[in-house]
Amino acid sequence: MSRIILNIMLIVILMPAVARAQVKVRIFADRKPSAVSLSVDQGRFELDIYDGSPVAIEAGSPVILALYEGRIAVKLRNSASFMIDSLTVRGLEGNDRFFLRINGNQGERRHYSGSLKCYADLGVMVLINICSEDDYIAGVVRTEGGPGKRIEYHKSLSLLARTYLYRHFDRHLIDGYNICDNIHCQAFNGISSDSLIMRAVLETRRQVILAADSSLIISAFHSNCGGETCTSDFVWLSSYAYLKNVNDPYCIKSPNAHWKKTIPLAEWESYLRRSGFNPEGKTVQSYNFVQDTRQKEYRIGSFSIPFNRIRNDLNLKSSFFSVSREGNSVILRGRGYGHGVGLCQEGAMVMAARGFKSDDIIKFYYSDVIISDVKNAKALKNE
Ligand SMILES: [Zn+2]
Ligand SMILES: [Zn+2]
Repeated sequence: MSRIILNIMLIVILMPAVARAQVKVRIFADRKPSAVSLSVDQGRFELDIYDGSPVAIEAGSPVILALYEGRIAVKLRNSASFMIDSLTVRGLEGNDRFFLRINGNQGERRHYSGSLKCYADLGVMVLINICSEDDYIAGVVRTEGGPGKRIEYHKSLSLLARTYLYRHFDRHLIDGYNICDNIHCQAFNGISSDSLIMRAVLETRRQVILAADSSLIISAFHSNCGGETCTSDFVWLSSYAYLKNVNDPYCIKSPNAHWKKTIPLAEWESYLRRSGFNPEGKTVQSYNFVQDTRQKEYRIGSFSIPFNRIRNDLNLKSSFFSVSREGNSVILRGRGYGHGVGLCQEGAMVMAARGFKSDDIIKFYYSDVIISDVKNAKALKNE
């Protein structure tokens, strides 16, 4: 549920963002599929082959696409297999849906709408789903949303997902698509059949979150902040006026509010030494450090190391933890789950359950932002 955001230099140019009707999403981007089977769920599809006549795809007869010697082998029922460089399975009726399974029949089914493009690129099968923006946003909310069930929570996540999409619409343009389906961009495991999620998407249609200068915000979120979100410079290099430190009373009784990890003392000492700590001949070192409110760095005497680096190195749930030495162990008592920047999902779920509207939820976690039609957004250009 967390998301990686690279620190890229961005320049605001005075040009409105353009509304998008369709999104090209590279799917199974991190799975390197070698074969995929496509079956029709609803609607009508045809197989478009460059320089060939389109072939209708029948419901109940899966199309098998497999990577073979750097090209795509296509198998349709009742016809011989053939090889091709690229193809499109095109939905014809507007409400067309299909499901895919990768690498054999045991794989999970994922359901998609619209069309599918497939080609081989440097020995890898590339699958691109071309779907409506609404279906894409709903799929992201379903995949990233967790167990929240309130419409105002879904609306908050729809605003975040749409803001992310517009901010990063050109991220993969050089590769021939807009966005990928793993956490490099935002997770999308296919369309949602949840009608409440779709309602949330439609009720926030065209709405995005803008900073005071009308630029699209970095819509960072995480599972649980532990009672206090952190500024972005705790995690990334840059700071942003709308990503402030917020005290969050809503998430502190939620499932991911607390964690504890016991580490053998020798292991902790060895880790600190590898990070540059020199015990300076002290025979007993406490290593104790209390983090009641978020601190950027863990300090022992003159030595310091960012909590966020410890979190990444030791794969901890959060960087918001206290350290205490107890006998031959070091106990880390932590709060929250995730990087702590931006919206706290478990806090937002509680806010929605207590009657807050999505706009209130967004404005609680992001300071001085405006929720507005995307036509009022300044487009961003990567430097
Ligand atoms: Zn990506
Ligand atoms: Zn929180």
